[in-house]
Amino acid sequence: MKLSFLGTGTSQGIPIIGCPCANCNSIDPRDKRTRTSAYLEWDGLHLLIDCGPDFRQQMLNNGLSKVDAVLLTHEHNDHLIGLDDVRPINYLQGKDMPVYGLERVIHELKLRFAYAFEDRPYPGVPKLTPVVIEKETDFFIQDKKIIPLTVFHGKLEISGFRFEDLVYLTDVKTIPEGSLEKIINCKILVISALRYQEHSTHLNLEEALEYIRFIRPERAFLTHLSHKFPPHNKFAGQLPENVYVAFDGLSVIC
Ligand SMILES: [Zn+2]
Ligand SMILES: [Zn+2]
Repeated sequence: MKLSFLGTGTSQGIPIIGCPCANCNSIDPRDKRTRTSAYLEWDGLHLLIDCGPDFRQQMLNNGLSKVDAVLLTHEHNDHLIGLDDVRPINYLQGKDMPVYGLERVIHELKLRFAYAFEDRPYPGVPKLTPVVIEKETDFFIQDKKIIPLTVFHGKLEISGFRFEDLVYLTDVKTIPEGSLEKIINCKILVISALRYQEHSTHLNLEEALEYIRFIRPERAFLTHLSHKFPPHNKFAGQLPENVYVAFDGLSVIC
């Protein structure tokens, strides 16, 4: 399978509008971070993990047009507000887009995109088919098993996902014991790290590295990064050997 990082930035993206910092003014393309999202090609299945405000540009930047389903980690706008732009994919594929998420997330999806769920919607709205997932119940898309992983984003219970030996976690602050048991022998771990300083709802770098040391994946990739880190080149040099800074457009074969 192939995982492509479509976006690796925190909720405001990098650069932040009007910010004078070195990261926001870097000329290295790896320092241009759109909102966090990833695209998984798994045999014939094409999954989008989260669909933030940069979704349209991310698909264009990466030459992608096929999406069989969208998996939502949680309902914050930087992870779902791009769903209006599935319209051309509805058209190309000739069908509605299945959107998977916890019951609370699907409830929020219907509020955020109320116009798409009216009884007689305006023609041309995105066609979304919500699918509720249970937090401890594995589910299948086509013949592929996906293991949902409960993690905490501060106090908010959100979802990570395991696809065979790949685990994808974003917006994490804590990983409960039961989820750690399901993660522990993975080969590739994607995990969020916001900045050096502590934060109430996100792992900082030290906390993320601590989880990585405990989980011991072959390779770990950091995502959902803020501009508080130094530019990519400098930051990458500060990390342990098996830990990489993800960047927009990076693909990893698992
Ligand atoms: Zn986020
Ligand atoms: Zn969030």
